[in-house]
Amino acid sequence: MNKILIANRGEIALRIMKSAKEMGIKTVAVYSEADRNSPHVKYADEAVLLGPPPSAQSYLLGDKIIEVCKTLGVDGIHPGYGFLSENGEFAQAVEEAGITFIGPKAHSMKVMGDKLSAKEAAKEFGIPLVPGTEGAIEDPKEAIAISREIGFPVLIKASAGGGGKGMRIVEKEEELEEQIHSAISEAKSAFGNGAVFIEKYVSSPRHIEVQVLCDSHGNRVHLFERECSVQRRHQKVIEEAPSAILSDELRAEMGAKAVDVARSCNYLGAGTVEFIMDESHNFYFMEMNTRLQVEHPVTEMITGVDLVKEQIKIARGEALSFKQEDLKIHGHSIEVRVYAENARENFMPDIGKLRVYQRPHGVGVRVDDGFEEGMDIPIYYDPMISKLVTYGKDREEARVRMLRAIEDYKIVGLHTTMEFAKFVMEHPAFISGDFDTHFVNKHFKPEYLEADVAEEGEQVAALISAYLLNQQSNKGINPSEKQAKQNSKWKANRL
Ligand code: ADP
Repeated sequence: MNKILIANRGEIALRIMKSAKEMGIKTVAVYSEADRNSPHVKYADEAVLLGPPPSAQSYLLGDKIIEVCKTLGVDGIHPGYGFLSENGEFAQAVEEAGITFIGPKAHSMKVMGDKLSAKEAAKEFGIPLVPGTEGAIEDPKEAIAISREIGFPVLIKASAGGGGKGMRIVEKEEELEEQIHSAISEAKSAFGNGAVFIEKYVSSPRHIEVQVLCDSHGNRVHLFERECSVQRRHQKVIEEAPSAILSDELRAEMGAKAVDVARSCNYLGAGTVEFIMDESHNFYFMEMNTRLQVEHPVTEMITGVDLVKEQIKIARGEALSFKQEDLKIHGHSIEVRVYAENARENFMPDIGKLRVYQRPHGVGVRVDDGFEEGMDIPIYYDPMISKLVTYGKDREEARVRMLRAIEDYKIVGLHTTMEFAKFVMEHPAFISGDFDTHFVNKHFKPEYLEADVAEEGEQVAALISAYLLNQQSNKGINPSEKQAKQNSKWKANRL
């Protein structure tokens, strides 16, 4: 493979290009009009404009992307996450055009892309499933009988749902029938597929997922777990590896089950098997994500494996260079998803300009991002600015380092999830490891946050620009600058 096209944008496009570069592979970026000046466009060896900002007119244009590959002599496509990454038809079309799709085969995506067919495949391999209806609900009466058996609350899930969408919690039997009908019509309009099913609503649930890698020679390994229980709107916001609560035995058991899930759909490449765990540490298969996961860096930090390089090697037909027993957990890693969101306003997107943007640095800090100072966060896509990742010899070091990195990360111009992340890092439930997916509801209130740093930051930025303007118009040194010079001279003398 000499040249790959990254059918994605932002931080993940850049992250993939960096591994490709280290492997001596040329890269092609694609972009929409909104991303003309994005770092991923500048970093690539070549870049092609796809179209206007909306994804449907740019990043989702599979046929156009394949045409670009043919024109530029591209021999592999990496889809990243989101957009076309879990689209089996696209993967198939890529292969038919004689280009390598860096990911699983269309068949595996199809099986795992639908929650019901995924459960069916996993069941054959004896994977534990959350109690509930076997298939799509045909008759609400039957669903009511099953819900009564497993006990309320229950969850109605859309088989084609994703990204935390298409789920409803039903607390009482009287509400179930009506909720099923609205869930079906909602699923039809949102996902074009009205299949819904019922699952027991696991109380005090933890989201624990396992990273797997499978090559085309029949080798399959797992790279341990990631704990993703700190969520808002059923969507992850803070992840870590390893989980604070797994014993070695449980880790090995979940890992083996995850590998079985991969086997059940003949998986190829990097994938993630998601489990939900209850208070008694019973775990159940939820779904498999057939792509690179947003939170993959925490696994890279604790295993030393570059997952993108492994994806490319597997796509080239190479055998995995390590066995399960070669993989060990070293230290601990935490990831904070830095979203342009306001935790004070129910995590509403807070789109705007990165007026000041300064990354943290130093030992054990990794920032995967796709923006520069002065850029706008576009309204058309996911409002994630970056992923702030720390690594430490143990969980406590990674946690304290995260607090330091949050303090060192200067973002002015919009609210971000970092202030919420600081709250989490300092919360006794997070520190002790005793938390679940209800962390936000149980422990968080906007008034617990410190003074509004974004607004304060705005004021500081305004003061700085007023100061600079003043300097430009008045060439002489103003008193505060004189003082600063004196201070640094004094410091230099002391050294
Ligand atoms: P999606 O495909 O939308 O990401 P998932 O099935 O992965 O949906 O579930 C997303 C989140 O919803 C989980 O991480 C968990 O917080 C919650 N969830 C899903 N299923 C259950 C369940 N049976 N009981 C309790 N919470 C659940």
